[in-house]
Amino acid sequence: MSARARARPSRTLPLDMPRRRSLSAILPGLLGLLGLLASGFMCSPSYAPWPGKNAQTPFHYDVVLSSDLRFLDVDLVLPRGPWDSLGVEDDADKYVVDLAALGGELTPPYHCTSETCALHYRFALADAAKSFASADVALAVEGGYVSPPSAWLLHPRDGLEHPYTLRVRGKFAIGLPQKEGAYFGNALELVPFAALGDFRMHPIALGDATMTLAISQTDFSLGDDGLSKILGDAARPVAELFGSYPSMLVVVVPKNESLEAKTLGGGGASIFLPIAKDASGTKLRSAWVPTHEMVHVGFPNLGFPHQWFEEGMATYLEPLIRVRAGSLSADDRFRELVTSAPQGQPQAGDEGLESTHTWGRTYWGGALFFLSADVEIRVRTQGKKSIVDVFRAIAHQHGSVAVQWDLARVLDVGDEATGLRVLHEHFDRYAKSPGKFEVDALFRKLGVSVKGEKGETVTYDDGAELAWVRKQW
Ligand SMILES: [Zn+2]
Repeated sequence: MSARARARPSRTLPLDMPRRRSLSAILPGLLGLLGLLASGFMCSPSYAPWPGKNAQTPFHYDVVLSSDLRFLDVDLVLPRGPWDSLGVEDDADKYVVDLAALGGELTPPYHCTSETCALHYRFALADAAKSFASADVALAVEGGYVSPPSAWLLHPRDGLEHPYTLRVRGKFAIGLPQKEGAYFGNALELVPFAALGDFRMHPIALGDATMTLAISQTDFSLGDDGLSKILGDAARPVAELFGSYPSMLVVVVPKNESLEAKTLGGGGASIFLPIAKDASGTKLRSAWVPTHEMVHVGFPNLGFPHQWFEEGMATYLEPLIRVRAGSLSADDRFRELVTSAPQGQPQAGDEGLESTHTWGRTYWGGALFFLSADVEIRVRTQGKKSIVDVFRAIAHQHGSVAVQWDLARVLDVGDEATGLRVLHEHFDRYAKSPGKFEVDALFRKLGVSVKGEKGETVTYDDGAELAWVRKQW
């Protein structure tokens, strides 16, 4: 596939965001099981925002995965409060069955008036996977399922943080931290992927962090050892670039049909990584997707409308890292950058990167933002600093996909790392207004040109004004 035609996977593009609906709005029948009344329809925002702060007593979930993997039996202890918006993700509510109140004062709809209240229900995992066939909710794979707990743990969908603990009996792995036998987090609105069932587990050390591969029970040409080596080699330079990097679960699903890779954080870190069953080592070693997703893991969630920033940094850093690691040639990097640049430029009616959410502006507009900022930082510091210092400073303050940051904080920490105002200036010029990137002049200064219909010939001019910047990469 040509570089320009390839579709980059999305993590949190608006189109992919789960629509939020309250359980009470959708499922009066289910509430009827409890003898409760359905509340009125709740106003639902189109996109799930990151949960806001709300110090609360934790929700406690005790889950048993049935040995045939078809059901999850969930015991939930709720703290005192009105929990009108209790629900699960993406219309999976109808797979919540046998709901029963077990204790405490629970009045319609889900108002817990005692110190705690208890609920029990079953989640029909196999049926949900049959219906959704998507890792966003539930996906059947050989030997088990891939599914984030937000799909099967009833939780308040009110946009606020609600700390929780999660214990699971059965074959289960998830990219969440664990303490005294329980996983924990601050919000179930966004959580890492989980692997439920028989997966082949391969922990790989990445400095202080661990990347754990959970590979579904599918035979594939390369085999576990070959894949572990390739993904370890892909992850190490990413972790090194950030300096501080979180532990993560990578759920690998060898498939024949093509599925989209995706990163989910929110309290932890995980990547859903489908690979072609017949993919050769050479093909996987040169694949850009794992590196792209691993870059997302090293950077905080910004949320809507800043997807261009998240995708832009991943699109910019992925080839840079792969050239350094030797899995991509400099020619291929520049060929893609130069030929793809026009897709990132503002078109008529553009309102800047913050307000124009097209594919081209999100991925390549974002990448040009970082290309331009990187060159500017290197030029103004005579090569002493670069965009890498920006990302290292953010990672050093524990900015990873496990957490949410305001974009303002990213810009502040980033600019502080270089001692300049380049990120703020770029934000004003390209994100708040439809500034055009002067890429032709930039590539000329860098001394790189691409010729031929398909960009066959990449030539370098070492006498160009900023050839030294290009050589620094
Ligand atoms: Zn991405």
